[in-house]
Amino acid sequence: MLKAVVINLSRRYTDLCVQENLILKHNGEIQRKIGVFMQVPKVLKKLFFIVCLFSFGCNSLAAEMIHSSSGLRTKPHERSSEQTFNKPVIMLDAGHGGRDEGTKVHSFKEKKITLATVLYTKKFLEQMGYRVILTRSKDVEISLHRRVALANKTQSALFVSIHYNASRNTDAKGVEIFYYDSKDPERAKKSRKLANYILHYVIDQTEANSRGVKVGNFHVIRETDMPAVLLEGGFVTNIQECSHLRRKEYLENIAKGVAQGIDKFLKS
Ligand SMILES: [Zn+2]
Repeated sequence: MLKAVVINLSRRYTDLCVQENLILKHNGEIQRKIGVFMQVPKVLKKLFFIVCLFSFGCNSLAAEMIHSSSGLRTKPHERSSEQTFNKPVIMLDAGHGGRDEGTKVHSFKEKKITLATVLYTKKFLEQMGYRVILTRSKDVEISLHRRVALANKTQSALFVSIHYNASRNTDAKGVEIFYYDSKDPERAKKSRKLANYILHYVIDQTEANSRGVKVGNFHVIRETDMPAVLLEGGFVTNIQECSHLRRKEYLENIAKGVAQGIDKFLKS
């Protein structure tokens, strides 16, 4: 109701301004415009100012709510930046979530460190000026189908899924990265290139053991339309590596490496 009244008042005032502009064009008298504006009571001017503020606030809030509900979270000031707007969209995918906990060693859950790594990566990429979309930004279960649909629908430039490894062989350790050997040779080539860059920079940042770039047939890298990779950032079943993965700084180093690899790929 309040909004309806406010919009109505706003329209009336706009009508007044339009009429006045027409008269101005006819007579070419700038002074007349100033004169008429001065005739508008102070109360109306104040009201118009409040209407503008209120309207602007509502629109911003609505835009943010739509954005958040679709799971596409970015900060408002970043969206308004023209420089950022022209940059490609990067889709980051934190493996697992919700009831799907991924690999679990005692209370240490893969779903938590995948999300932490993705959030750090998002931070680094945004600092570089990129637009980043996440398949999940909290502990929720999202189907593989939905993850792929989000990436394809938003026409993201590339897709990076983050996971952590487990093995019965507790000596197994290190970082490996997968791409899908797509029927589209161009996509396969780009995915392999992206994988190589990311692995190079992650190893550079973490000094972890490199297990190399591998071909994989995982749903999220197979069904996506853009260059896509799946990173296994280390083994939670290896005592030494698991102690690293428990540290925030180590996850940040992995994230930094991922961001640098993406940046290198997009600039190459
Ligand atoms: Zn996983």
